[in-house]
Amino acid sequence: MDPITALLDDVLDEIAPQDAGAPADYIPELAAADTDRLAFAVVGPHGRVRAVGDDAAEFTIQSISKPFVLALALQELGRERVLARVGVEPSGEPFNAISLEMGTGRPANPMINAGAIAVSSLVPGGDVDERTARIVETLSAFAGRSLWVDEAVYASESATGDRNRALAHLLRSHGVLEGEVETAVEAYFRQCSLLVTVRDLAVMAATLAFGGVNPLTRRRVIDERVARDVLSIMGSCGMYDFSGEWMLRVGLPAKSGVSGGLLAVAPSQFGVAAFSPRLDTHGNSVRSVLVVEELAERFGMHMLESHESVAVPAVALETVEGGRVVRLGGELGFAGTERVVAILRGMGDELPPGATVTVDATGLGAAHPGAVVALQAEFETMPEGFVLLV
Ligand code: GLN
Repeated sequence: MDPITALLDDVLDEIAPQDAGAPADYIPELAAADTDRLAFAVVGPHGRVRAVGDDAAEFTIQSISKPFVLALALQELGRERVLARVGVEPSGEPFNAISLEMGTGRPANPMINAGAIAVSSLVPGGDVDERTARIVETLSAFAGRSLWVDEAVYASESATGDRNRALAHLLRSHGVLEGEVETAVEAYFRQCSLLVTVRDLAVMAATLAFGGVNPLTRRRVIDERVARDVLSIMGSCGMYDFSGEWMLRVGLPAKSGVSGGLLAVAPSQFGVAAFSPRLDTHGNSVRSVLVVEELAERFGMHMLESHESVAVPAVALETVEGGRVVRLGGELGFAGTERVVAILRGMGDELPPGATVTVDATGLGAAHPGAVVALQAEFETMPEGFVLLV
C-alpha cells in the first residue's frame, strides 16, 4: 500500500465504527442496502485513483447526478437560458421541498429535486430514451467509463415517485418544465438510477476540479466556465439544508445522494468521493460526511484557507554578461505579480550601475490578463535597466 493510500486507510479505520443513521427507505430498493459498506476514493491531477474500503461496491448515483446534468444543460444552453428556469440560491430546506420562487415558479436551485427535474427537462431529447441517452453519455464521459441504469432501483423509484411527479406538475403549471411531466420525471428517475462506485464519483469530482477535463481520459467534457458555475452552485447548495455548516467545517463544493454517496471537489487539487448508506436527517450519509471532513482537515483542504502560493510563478534567476535574467514559469496571478515585483525591487537595490535585469515572462504556462497588466504597470516605475519580455 502506498503511503497516501495508507493515510486514507487510517481515516477509514477511524470513521468505520460510527453507526448512526439509517438508509433511505422512501425508495424501497434503497432500504435493502448493505449498511456496513464504507469506501472512499481520491483522484489527483494525473488521474491516479486511490481507493480504500468497499471501493468496488456499486450503488445508484441519485442526487449526485444533479450537478453533472446541470453541467450538460449549461454546456448546451448557456447560463442565461438555464437561469431562466432555475435559481441559484440555497433553499435552506430539505432536498424534496417545494421551494419555488413566488411569481415565477422557478425552483430555488438545481441541487434540490424541483430544480434538478427542471434542469433535466432542458436536456435535448424528444423522448425518455433520447434524453436518458444524452445524460448517460455525459455522465459516462465524466466518469471515464460507460455507466448504466440499475433497472430495479429505477422501477422502485418510478413506482413510488409521486412527490417528484407532483413537483414536476407544479413546475409545468408555471411554465418552468420543458415538455411533458412523464418524460421529465422518467428521464430524471433514470439519471438517478445510474450505477457508480466511489472510484467513478471521485473521477467525476476530479473532472470538475480540473476545469472540465477528465484527468483519467484527458478528455475535455465541459468548458472551464461551466465547471466553475457548477462548483459555485455545489458550494452554496450541494448539501441541502446542511450546506452552510458543511462550508464552514469542510470548505469544499460537494454533492450528496440518498443512496449514501458523497463527492467533494478541491479545485485544481483533487476529487474525492465516499460511500456509506446510513443517512442523517438531511439525507446526507453520516460516515461519508465524516470521512470527507476528516480528510479535508488532515490535508488542509478548506477552500478558504490562506496559501503561500496561489498562482505564484516559479522564478529562476540567471547571471549573464551585463546583468541578470529572471525567468518566470508556471502560473502568474494577481498576487503573484506582487511577489515577483518584491523580488525585482530587492535586486534593484544592489544592481551595479549599467547592469540590466531582463524579466522573461514568455515561458509562463498561464498568465491572468489582469496580472500581466499589473506587471507591465509596475515596470513603468522600475529603475533604469529593467526590461520585461511578455
Ligand atoms: N432520486 C432521489 C429523489 O428524487 C434523489 C434524491 C437525493 O438523492 N437526495 O428523491
